[in-house]
Order: sequence, then structure tokens, then C-alpha cells
Amino acid sequence: MRFSDETLHDIKCRFRRELENGLGRDTNTTATVKMLPTFVRSIPDGSEKGDFLALDLGGSNFRILRVKVTQDKKQPVQMESLVYETPEDIIHGSGTQLFDHVAECLGDFMEKQKIKDKKLPVGFTFSFPCAQTKLDEAVLVTWTKKFKVSGVEGMDVVKLLNKAIKKRGDYEADIMAVVNDTTGTMMTCGFDDQRCEVGIIIGTGTNACYMEELRHIDLVEGDEGRMCINTEWGAFGDDGSLEDLRTEFDREIDRGSLNPGKQLFEKMASGMFMGELVRLILVKMAKEGLLFEGRITPELLTKGKIETKHVSAIENKEGLTKCKEILTRLGVEPSQEDCVAVQHVCTIVSFRSANLIAATLGGILTRLKDNKGVARLRTTVGIDGSMYKMHPQYARRLHKTVRRLVPDSDVRFLLSESGSAKGAAMVTAVAYRLADQTRQ
Ligand code: BGC
Ligand code: MG
Repeated sequence: MRFSDETLHDIKCRFRRELENGLGRDTNTTATVKMLPTFVRSIPDGSEKGDFLALDLGGSNFRILRVKVTQDKKQPVQMESLVYETPEDIIHGSGTQLFDHVAECLGDFMEKQKIKDKKLPVGFTFSFPCAQTKLDEAVLVTWTKKFKVSGVEGMDVVKLLNKAIKKRGDYEADIMAVVNDTTGTMMTCGFDDQRCEVGIIIGTGTNACYMEELRHIDLVEGDEGRMCINTEWGAFGDDGSLEDLRTEFDREIDRGSLNPGKQLFEKMASGMFMGELVRLILVKMAKEGLLFEGRITPELLTKGKIETKHVSAIENKEGLTKCKEILTRLGVEPSQEDCVAVQHVCTIVSFRSANLIAATLGGILTRLKDNKGVARLRTTVGIDGSMYKMHPQYARRLHKTVRRLVPDSDVRFLLSESGSAKGAAMVTAVAYRLADQTRQ
């Protein structure tokens, strides 16, 4: 699980080839990294204004927001938001149930905001791979992460949501844009930093988007300007291209998942699987008598008993004490030595994630650099996600490795708090401004 810089450079090169395959006319249909056009063509230019609603579904929380964009210099964006539950039976139920639930929550939110009589433009952050032919249409390619809802794959989620809203009949909404959370993150950061042209999520799942030259996007008409591409890098490796790097633990995670054989890169790198990877390694070590004097408890053998937040806690300053607490709860009676070893395992697993993401991000950055034809790339990466935000050392390790892998660059990393949802409102604001110009 520990990669040399040589291996990381190799992964970076492999990923660059994936980017090219996904963009090419002849290679796109069979490409593993899908490189989905988003129809977002520019970052906000600061002249946007209005009152918008944003839905954010697919991350660790389902959130609804009201976003007011004004020309106020000090505070151009004001937000109010609520988190709604998405019960287990809904994320594993039917499409009708899911969208009825979303429509109900939106109704509740509008009621609380006292805007049920208004028809506000809505931006929808939907954090799953979607095929788009315009901003307000998004056909779900496949579910990922914890979601498996029947009857939605292959369908346009805007249609499904509109249908659910209409059926209720107690309010109206104008869904103007569907955006991936990576695009949302990039747009939010773009509002503050015009140089932002990459968006990354390292949370429950992982993914990235960036601004690609339109002349390189074979699937979209036109040669002028740029368009945001949702790479869906979580699927990197689904064709076997990472087999030499996957371990027995990665294979076991995959076998027990909702989508075996899919999102293999995501399963090595994102937050959803970090704790479980650590647990599987501890089980193996205990079985070989390398930990806990060989004690194996039912808790240690239970899927999900070590969570990603535990990995973060164990790698924190008071980590050894935490580690002892967490292991004691699993009933394995750890010695001081055990705790040190487990801390070490956590570091190896989370460091591998940061290294893998640094390599794929390195692939995107070198592509941007070549596109621009510059000797040195100066750019900003908008970034969000629980893993990146919560883990005590993750961000520093990632930044350091990226700078080492792409030395001819000045990369600014911009953390985007609730960026994914706010970004949907930004995209909607831009779309609204453009639509307004056409109307006039
Ligand atoms: C999804 C992406 C999303 C990422 C982060 C992945 O599982 O396929 O669309 O951007 O998770 O939420
Ligand atoms: Mg999110």
C-alpha cells in the first residue's frame, strides 16, 4: 500500500490516458473514466444576482438551501439551509419513493421560508454520474456509494423530480440546472477565485471535474471556449488497469459492496471505505497472531465497526489514547504496542488514499498545463469532502505530494465549505442571467 514516487508517476500517466479515452469520439463509449460533459461553460463572472433554491443529494447529508446572490461587495452570497434525513429504506427503495421524499422536503423548506407561493429557480446538486445534453437534463448512468434506488438508472432525474412536485400540487419549482458536486465545488470557489478550474470531492465518494477545451471534447459541438468535464474518476481501474496495485483487502471490500466490480478507484481512496479497509487489515493481523495476542472478537469481525472518523481520531494528536478506547470497545484488550501498530495501519491506509488522489489530480494538472501550452501552470483547485476536511493530516499530505508530482506548477487549494450545494445555485444564477439576456 505504500507507493514510491515512480509508481505514483506511473498512475498519473495511466490516468492521463483514461482522460484522453473518455474524451475521444471512438474511445468514449468503451472508456472506464466517463468524462461527462456538464454544459457548464464558464465560472461566475460576479454579475449574477437573484434568489435561488438549491438541493444537495448524494453526499453525507441531504440538504436544501436558499441562496441569495446580490451585488453587495462585502457579502455577495447569503445562505440559509436545512439538513433532511434520508432514511435507509429510501436510499434502497424505489425511485418514486425517493423523489416523493425530495419533493416533500422541498415543500417543507419552502413553507418554513414562507416562499411556497413563489416559483423560484432551483439548482440541483446530484452527486452521481449523469449523462447530460443540456444543463436541465441529467440521465443517471449508475448509482454509486450507499445508494441503490430502483427505476432511476437511465432516467432523467429532472423529469422524475418535476413529476413528484406536480403530483403534490401545493407549490411550483423551476429546476434550471443539475450539477455534480465536483462542479458545484468548482463554481463556488470560482466565485471567489477566477483562476479556479478544477473541483474535487474526497468524501463518502471521490471525483473531480475540470475545465477542458471544447475542441478536445468530441461529443459536444463547437471548438471555441471551454466546458467543465465531470471525470467520474471513481471508476478508474474498473477495466483492470489498477489490478497490480489492488490488495486482497480492496478485493474483499469490493465483493461485499453494493456495486461489485465498479468504482474500484473510489473504493481504494474515498472516505466510505477507509475504516473498513483498516478493519480488514487488523483482522488479518490478529489471525496471524501479530496483534491482540491473536484475540479475535465478534465486534472486530463485524463490518462497519471501524469507521472513517475513527481513523481520523487515531491519527490525531491524542491518537494513542483514542486508539485504545476504540479497540477496547471492540473487546480485543489491546496492549500499548498494539495501539502503536494500529495507528501505523491507519496512517498507511489514509496515506495511500492521499497518494492515489495526488496522482490522478496530477494527471489533470499536467493536462491543463499542456492545454494552455505554458511552462508553468498557475491554477486553483476547489476542494471539499469529509475525508479532506476531517482527517488531521490528509490535506497537508495531499498538497505536498501533488506539488512533488507536478513540480512545474503553482497550485492553490481552496477549501469550499458547503461548496457543492452553493455551486448549484451559482450555476443556476449564471443560467438565469444568460436566459435573462436572451429574453431581453
Ligand atoms: C460519484 C460522483 C460524485 C462523487 C463524490 C461518486 O461516487 O460517482 O458523481 O461526484 O461520488 O460525491
Ligand atoms: Mg457533498
